[in-house]
Amino acid sequence: MSSLQDTYDAIVLGAGAAGLMCAAVAGQRGKRVLLIDHAPEPGRKIVISGGGRCNFTNLHTAPDRYLSENPHFARSALSRYTAQDFLELVERHGIAWHEKTLGQLFCDGSAKQIVALLLAECDRGGVVLRCDTAVTQVDHADGQYMVTLDSGQVRAPALVIATGGPSIPKMGATGFAYDLARQFGLKVVQPRPALVPLKLPAQEALFRELSGVSTSVEARCGKAAFREAALFTHKGLSGPAILQVSSYWRHGETIAIDFMPDHPDGWLREAKRNRPRGSLRRVLEEVLPARLADALAQRIGIEGEMGNQTDKALSATEAQLSAWPFAPDGSEGYAKAEVTAGGIDTRGLSSKTMEASKVPGLYVIGEAVDVTGWLGGYNFQWAWATGYAAAQAI
Ligand SMILES: Cc1cc2nc3c(=O)[nH]c(=O)nc-3n(C[C@H](O)[C@H](O)[C@H](O)COP(=O)(O)OP(=O)(O)OC[C@H]3O[C@@H](n4cnc5c(N)ncnc54)[C@H](O)[C@@H]3O)c2cc1C
Repeated sequence: MSSLQDTYDAIVLGAGAAGLMCAAVAGQRGKRVLLIDHAPEPGRKIVISGGGRCNFTNLHTAPDRYLSENPHFARSALSRYTAQDFLELVERHGIAWHEKTLGQLFCDGSAKQIVALLLAECDRGGVVLRCDTAVTQVDHADGQYMVTLDSGQVRAPALVIATGGPSIPKMGATGFAYDLARQFGLKVVQPRPALVPLKLPAQEALFRELSGVSTSVEARCGKAAFREAALFTHKGLSGPAILQVSSYWRHGETIAIDFMPDHPDGWLREAKRNRPRGSLRRVLEEVLPARLADALAQRIGIEGEMGNQTDKALSATEAQLSAWPFAPDGSEGYAKAEVTAGGIDTRGLSSKTMEASKVPGLYVIGEAVDVTGWLGGYNFQWAWATGYAAAQAI
């Protein structure tokens, strides 16, 4: 990649998923692009994503799988750069992939292949990439953005904010995007950790002792419901189902867990008829991990043989098991959150180009924006789609 000059057509701040995509596409459209990151290397979250295999998109990408104060905002960018488009890019680079579950596409080999793909695309576009480079100031005058770096000042008529959200600060994540947004008069929807494990209070010690136990559940929070695995941890709850509902959960709210999502109404009464001499604990142990069955039976408090229980009590127990309430007292925070919900308010941005409506030449893409995907490749797809959208407009 070529050496640093003073003037570019666009400066992209943040060489993560969105910034790399945007820089590559704009560069290939003939724009002179400078891509800056303060981290020592680009795409660090991509490298650690999907357990090192990068869940790079989801075949079921649709706007209703994203949270935002402005639910329709995601529609435009997602429709103009689709999961299929990114998959074609992956195939063009000869990267082997597989669908794991629920439309989630992963590399067969390593997430590093996705970073290599993006760097090769940047190279094709003649992008100038500068890592280990801190941005100390950004000014705007006479239609030019002046970005002050340790090493001097660079300028361009277009500035793209692609510095992500504050989740996983040890990977170089910051709230820099929000500071810049506010500097330019954009509003920020209160950011919060999302796709994050939830903590249970001390009085739920019985469940915290189940650390390591995992089971298939339906987890619900408000109208959101996810059928996946839940995992008990020494702090509370995790696993895909919990991470998914955590994005919808707010402090003070209760989540409900259906431990028996595949059991029809009346299954406990049926168990009573089939095994009248068995205990509730025994019945539960047949369908749940033994330690969890023990804990639930202990909490439910039904003693003795199934044959001695009234149908009413068993119906009530079924209802309890299918909507077990947990009242988390917090989440594990940005240190453990896969993404940040909230962010730069979409109401100040064009959904087609990601440009700030009142600040010509300023673009915001990726996780910095108040659009947050479900777990399962949706967040990368948002990064690719918004990077592509801005690159078409620069
Ligand atoms: C452990 C983990 C696993 C994940 N797995 C998946 C997955 O499999 N599939 C999926 O879809 N999503 C996954 N995600 C979410 C996904 O990584 C993000 O949504 C995505 O990376 C957001 O892209 P982005 O470009 O907006 O931000 P980022 O990828 O976070 O990039 C932002 C860049 O900006 C740089 N930066 C920050 N502040 C500054 C500053 N002040 N100056 C200069 N540069 C700065 C950072 O160093 C970084 O390189 C995962 C996240 C984590 C943490």
